[in-house]
Amino acid sequence: MTEAKHQGGCRCGAVRFEAAGEPLSVGYCHCNDCRRASGAPVSAFVGFDAGVVRITGDTLRSYENGDVARSFCSVCGSPIAYVDQRLPDSVWFMLGVMDIPANYKPTRHSYVREQLPYVHMPDGLERFPRTSVPRPEGTDR
Ligand SMILES: [Zn+2]
Ligand SMILES: [Zn+2]
Repeated sequence: MTEAKHQGGCRCGAVRFEAAGEPLSVGYCHCNDCRRASGAPVSAFVGFDAGVVRITGDTLRSYENGDVARSFCSVCGSPIAYVDQRLPDSVWFMLGVMDIPANYKPTRHSYVREQLPYVHMPDGLERFPRTSVPRPEGTDR
């Protein structure tokens, strides 16, 4: 794989990915679907233009739920990314599977209406009741 600026992968190393350019956005998501998919009280994502992303690995699997398909490594179970049919030009990687997660500082919280009551993150970041990345009119859940 070439030395793209942004790289990451699953725990076992079977799935690797890279992206060029700059992230579209970095943010936390508090929604129930991300919670169920990750198993963690809150998730964080790094989004890239789909055209600059390359993912390799035979063990990558995907699970579709409505408009959202989430990929994961079928060997080690690491969640990798999601794509949303309503945002066809972008790929959103789990922040924690980036090789250097400290390089991706979230700037926003999404779906805070579903945030768990005991999760307190007094970081002063912008908060959105639902998505922070606009979906086409009428498709936001
Ligand atoms: Zn793996
Ligand atoms: Zn979410």
